[in-house]
Amino acid sequence: MKVQVLSALQDNYMYLIVDEATKQAAVVDPVDPDKVLQAVQQEGVNLTTVLTTHHHWDHAGGNENIAKKVAGLQVLGGDERVGALTWKVKHGDELNVGNLHIRCLATPCHTSGHICYVVGAQGEPAPAVFTGDTLFIAGCGRFFEGTPQQMYHALVEVLGTLPDDTRVFCGHEYTVANLKFAGHVEPANQDIKIKMEWAQEKRSKQEPTVPSTIGEEKRINPFMRVHESSVQKHAGLSEAIATMGAIRKEKDSFRA
Ligand SMILES: [Zn+2]
Repeated sequence: MKVQVLSALQDNYMYLIVDEATKQAAVVDPVDPDKVLQAVQQEGVNLTTVLTTHHHWDHAGGNENIAKKVAGLQVLGGDERVGALTWKVKHGDELNVGNLHIRCLATPCHTSGHICYVVGAQGEPAPAVFTGDTLFIAGCGRFFEGTPQQMYHALVEVLGTLPDDTRVFCGHEYTVANLKFAGHVEPANQDIKIKMEWAQEKRSKQEPTVPSTIGEEKRINPFMRVHESSVQKHAGLSEAIATMGAIRKEKDSFRA
């Protein structure tokens, strides 16, 4: 499995996922179809599938256009508001693209129909999860259509139970800003400091900070660490879901 990171708009990421054996490919959130199709041509692959994380225009806004340009394209999403949708998926739905195995995880909160996609291939070491605006590196999406309980479920009980070496490919390059907030929540967390130095170095060279891993997020991401006493203490609380709500509210207006 090969994952090509394609930047779009201000700070969005699209991902071209290729099964090298069969030359079949899927794309995550193709908001800039021309750029995707250029990569498809360069790779010499057959694009069969669009994996839409959620209906926001900076993720799903290219769907209608790419569906017109690629005959027979199947377009997945978990929400009727996703353009050109051919398969409204639900939690646990599975499919194959070439030899790649894809599993849909419902993670409502940022939007009510948000889906994350786990992609892996047999005989390959680590799967990947495409997390849209649910899980960012060191952060999470705003709770536009959901509750702290739902984000807790998504981050801790769904994404947090994937194997630690699962690679995390998220929807935006927000890593440095997220790490500033993470360091504010947990000033003594050395993993956050080390990741910040690394991320600033990457960004100074205009390089993406994706992917991280689920195991790494458990060490640096305050929203995956709401059960830790250090994070609860920052919020002045002693319970994980209330802490999730409190630190998201603080982050909404946090100025680094
Ligand atoms: Zn969004």
